[in-house]
Amino acid sequence: MKVNLLDFDRAGLERYFAAIGEKPFRARQVLHWIHQRGASDFAAMTDIAKSLRTRLAESAEIRPPQAVGDSTAADDTRKWLIKVDGANAVDAVFIPETGRGTLCVSSQAGCVLDCAFCSTGKQGFNRNLSTAEIIGQLWMANRVLGRRQGAERPITNVVLMGMGEPLLNLDAVLPALHLMLDDDAYGLSRRRVTVSTSGVVPGMDRLARECPVALAVSLHAPNDSLRDRLVPVNRKYPLRDLLAACRRYLQRAPRDFITFEYVMLDGVNDSPAHARELLAIAARVRCKFNLIPFNPFTDSGFRRSSPDCMRRFAEVLQQAGLTVTTRKTRGEAIDAACGQLAGEVADRTRRGARRAPIPILELNS
Ligand code: SAH
Ligand code: SF4
Repeated sequence: MKVNLLDFDRAGLERYFAAIGEKPFRARQVLHWIHQRGASDFAAMTDIAKSLRTRLAESAEIRPPQAVGDSTAADDTRKWLIKVDGANAVDAVFIPETGRGTLCVSSQAGCVLDCAFCSTGKQGFNRNLSTAEIIGQLWMANRVLGRRQGAERPITNVVLMGMGEPLLNLDAVLPALHLMLDDDAYGLSRRRVTVSTSGVVPGMDRLARECPVALAVSLHAPNDSLRDRLVPVNRKYPLRDLLAACRRYLQRAPRDFITFEYVMLDGVNDSPAHARELLAIAARVRCKFNLIPFNPFTDSGFRRSSPDCMRRFAEVLQQAGLTVTTRKTRGEAIDAACGQLAGEVADRTRRGARRAPIPILELNS
């Protein structure tokens, strides 16, 4: 079986070249070809001796996961369904905005954490993605989008907010993050790469040590009793531990605040009283709030809060001096909005069997 070079960050490639008796500087050259030029063929790597190219082609390959679906919404949000094996496919979503373009990347096929309002969670879990499957989403999107839009790189920001909990797959996520930051690969600054977590405390500490990028924490509730229900991982890492981990993270973070994501669920977590309770949390961690209108999916059992209710909620926070943004919903018609990503997951946790099935995504092509 050939080694897939998309699985390696710079350190991994250096180890690979050392193992085959080559100089470590080859790592830089190959990184550049694969990730900056989008090469998938060793024959294209003209500054590498032909004999080495032939040798590489015999033992290694550049094998990205395959896009099997591609749909674009009226607002230009674009979603790819990416097949990672015979039974599983994950989503990657590109969100163009004026002056920037964000790629939302998946880290697992499914998710074990089972948040009450999330369609990925409801699909159950199959497996972790490999580094190649994670960075392959960026590699593929860059190739597809780059070709259309000329020389300028269309992807300026990456968020790990697709399917899965990135901090439960750090062995594969960390090399992918290193590649996103590496100047010979994607060269993004730490502030432009965001990991979103539902609050896996040991993972937050490891990320802080090994690759502190911008951090978003899915808070969704101002107290433990409600958060236990909405974000079940809270039973393991309650708010007190989570907030302490946020403070530790801030000592290494590229920004001086944590972004708290808060999905607005009608009649569940969206009253002014809930907002006032959040002020106590905000007093303990430097933070900004990102309110996310709930994106519905079949049999979710939740409704989106009204715009009025969201405005009143935001006002309570703003009046206390906090920065609050409300996320615009993008790509809803193609099920590409936050929490709607369901891909195709061959659930091994049998969660799906205990619940109503979710229809297979309809794709444009
Ligand atoms: N597992 C990570 C990252 C993926 S989810 C996490 O939970 O943070 C990315 C974001 O989408 C999270 O904030 C998540 O809570 C939110 N989300 C999940 N389901 C949603 C839904 N139906 N509507 C709106 N946001 C949702
Ligand atoms: Fe998993 Fe995040 Fe969905 Fe929760 S919100 S089930 S952690 S993907």
